[in-house]
Amino acid sequence: MPSRYCHVDVDDVAIAVEVAQGLRDPEDTSSFSETVDCPNCEHPVPLAVRFCGSCGHALDVSDQSEIDFLKKKLDELGEDALTMWQAGQDALTLVNNPSFRAFMETIKMSPEAKAELG
Ligand SMILES: [Zn+2]
Repeated sequence: MPSRYCHVDVDDVAIAVEVAQGLRDPEDTSSFSETVDCPNCEHPVPLAVRFCGSCGHALDVSDQSEIDFLKKKLDELGEDALTMWQAGQDALTLVNNPSFRAFMETIKMSPEAKAELG
């Protein structure tokens, strides 16, 4: 029987899982029970998280600045943003397709052709 009482709470488990998954620095001592008010909606947010669970606002000013910048860019691109994203997804699917990769291997230049080009 242990001589010392140990109580493991939800914070301990959540933090251990984050450390095990590489999402948290083991030296980070912030807990889920310590909170700060969201700068946008004043909802209490655990110190251990980066975004407000109520409104999605970043707790860190530089994170929110980056998000605001990207939102502005998306607004400027309008419907083009969706088209560009879809084109990127299509290209990624093609590049990861084994048949396409095999085809690309067949059209690699021969050493002689490379030497001819210098
Ligand atoms: Zn909020």
